[in-house]
Amino acid sequence: MSFNLATMLTESARTHPDRPVARTAHGDLGYAELDALSGRLAAGLRREGLAPGARVAVQLPNLPQFLVAYFGILKAGLVMVPMNPLLTADEIAHQLADSGASLMVVWEGCLEQAAKAAGDVPLFVVGNAPEGTRPFDELYDGGGDTGTAPTGPGDTAVLIYTSGTTGRPKGAELGHFQLYMNCTVSSELFGVEDDDVVMAVLPFFHVFGLSGVVNTAVRRGTTMSVVPRFTVPDVLDAIHRHRVSVFLGVPAMFHALTEADEGDRDLSSLRVAGSGGAAMSEALLTRFEDRFGIVVLEGYGMTETASTATMNRPGERRPLSIGKPVWGVETRVVNAAGEELPPGQVGELLVRGHCVTRGYHGNPAATAEAIRDGWLHTGDLARTDDDGFLYIVDRMKDLVIRGGYNVYPREVEEVLHAHPAVAEAAVVGRPDERLGEEVAAYVALRPGAAATPEELIAHSRGHLAAYKYPREVVILPELPRNATGKLLKRELRDR
Ligand code: ATP
Ligand code: MG
Repeated sequence: MSFNLATMLTESARTHPDRPVARTAHGDLGYAELDALSGRLAAGLRREGLAPGARVAVQLPNLPQFLVAYFGILKAGLVMVPMNPLLTADEIAHQLADSGASLMVVWEGCLEQAAKAAGDVPLFVVGNAPEGTRPFDELYDGGGDTGTAPTGPGDTAVLIYTSGTTGRPKGAELGHFQLYMNCTVSSELFGVEDDDVVMAVLPFFHVFGLSGVVNTAVRRGTTMSVVPRFTVPDVLDAIHRHRVSVFLGVPAMFHALTEADEGDRDLSSLRVAGSGGAAMSEALLTRFEDRFGIVVLEGYGMTETASTATMNRPGERRPLSIGKPVWGVETRVVNAAGEELPPGQVGELLVRGHCVTRGYHGNPAATAEAIRDGWLHTGDLARTDDDGFLYIVDRMKDLVIRGGYNVYPREVEEVLHAHPAVAEAAVVGRPDERLGEEVAAYVALRPGAAATPEELIAHSRGHLAAYKYPREVVILPELPRNATGKLLKRELRDR
């Protein structure tokens, strides 16, 4: 059987040729137009002599050209390697070498770093192409559509690097059918209909933006409102102008929007929101829902699970919970011996099912370590409640052990978030001679709010056992985050 993920674009273009797939501040791209352009790009890539399965790196912000590159690469039977536009030359060089990329599509704004890293890899530039590079348009200007390659359902479609929150990013291989399943189940859970408009501000290079936004929208034939970089005014303008109904984001975005002043923009088109990628505090969830009058469904996933592995359902959402496994996916919470734990007990979360990666590219040792008997070891600590809802307790690597006692930073962060002056909090272990580790908190305050470290320590002490509350609170203007909005606790620990 052959199966190519790009078929969902061709199908949506057949049913809604004139509907915009992407609306931007500079104009619209229609379904039929994207289908035609990506078909011509596939022909152009074939003319470059790339063999099926060859990797093509794409380093672009959320631009319509990203969509042309993505679907063109899939149609040609090649593998896309999306890259964060903020990578340094060294990081680009590592991902090019590790993935064995044969060609790179790059935005002019990233060219300085990419050119240092590319070596022999030919660069095709979106924007102005200087000497030694070629314009991206050249690839699809040759005309001709040579059709969609008959890839197999298990063939790798995308090789995508993890966010690098805990160490060097690892390249996870995601297959055509795996990605198709993921967007199919998650769009069903959100109830995405073809007249919805989905906010596309999550970066397309990340699995949440690619699978959760792009694939979901194209699968359903809906329109995306594309914002290249998250700023509050740009997102509010886009919601107003494009009548966005589904908002997908990471908690940092929800936080910024909750504090925003919409002026005379009309945001009444919003009907549902989805959060993932990092923990959402109960305080933020409540504030956002009260402010916008819509429900926030939190989900959980990893690059290694092609985006969504678990999610809350409309009508039975539980704050702080990541919901239950999506259709066709199983989870277990186990102790160090691999024994399944009863509700309430904390252990490692394992995931099995169609969402799990085929493995890390060129790294069988890391793959064998992560996936045992089909179960992906997520590295995240979780527990269930009596009704089977899952809760992420923390990353195993973030656990603080103070004087022999386990302190889960997230529990302490929740207490800090409940203080009215606190916008964001991050709790880490600081080396301590006597205790091994001491609990330290970094906090950013809400605009206009005031609180002293002593006050926040006293507040925490009132709500937490003696071994858990932070002995040190540092107030920062903002907390360090990477491009996908994840807290960089490494940086706080290194301070
Ligand atoms: P790296 O693996 O390179 O260290 P990363 O784990 O941050 O980076 P991603 O694959 O982008 O890379 O993120 C997956 C991780 O994000 C999960 O393992 C989990 O720790 C965290 N995460 C995702 N969704 C949630 C959520 N709803 N609540 C808490 N944590 C979440
Ligand atoms: Mg990870």
